[in-house]
Amino acid sequence: MTPKRIEHIGIAVSNLDEAIRYWEDVMGLKCYNIEEVADQKVKTAFFKVGEVKIELLEPTSEESTIASFIEKRGQGVHHIAFAVENTDEALKDAQQKGVRLIDQTQRKGAEDLNIGFLHPKSTMGVLTEFCSESN
Ligand code: ZN
Repeated sequence: MTPKRIEHIGIAVSNLDEAIRYWEDVMGLKCYNIEEVADQKVKTAFFKVGEVKIELLEPTSEESTIASFIEKRGQGVHHIAFAVENTDEALKDAQQKGVRLIDQTQRKGAEDLNIGFLHPKSTMGVLTEFCSESN
């Protein structure tokens, strides 16, 4: 398993509207998609920078992992997502190499991608997401 490219960078924010204004007004990017992922209790907003996306994540509930992340560490970079051929296989491959997984198998993320996370304890603090097009 070798990642093909960085698919997106996930950024935890406490106020999505305010964050969108920053990325549009200051950075000059256009938000092209806003989507709620009920499963993960987040509302997401997407921007494109070249072929890499920025994914803003606002918690929609106190129980959201994004809410506890912001509480513990403040707003900021939350995860890096790598595009892979097959998320399930990439997870299995990492696990065989001794990496702890958050997701044992892939699940549906925003933008209809198959996603899965590695545990940051096994990745020197970088919350790592794999994602692939669903087929
Ligand atoms: Zn993500």
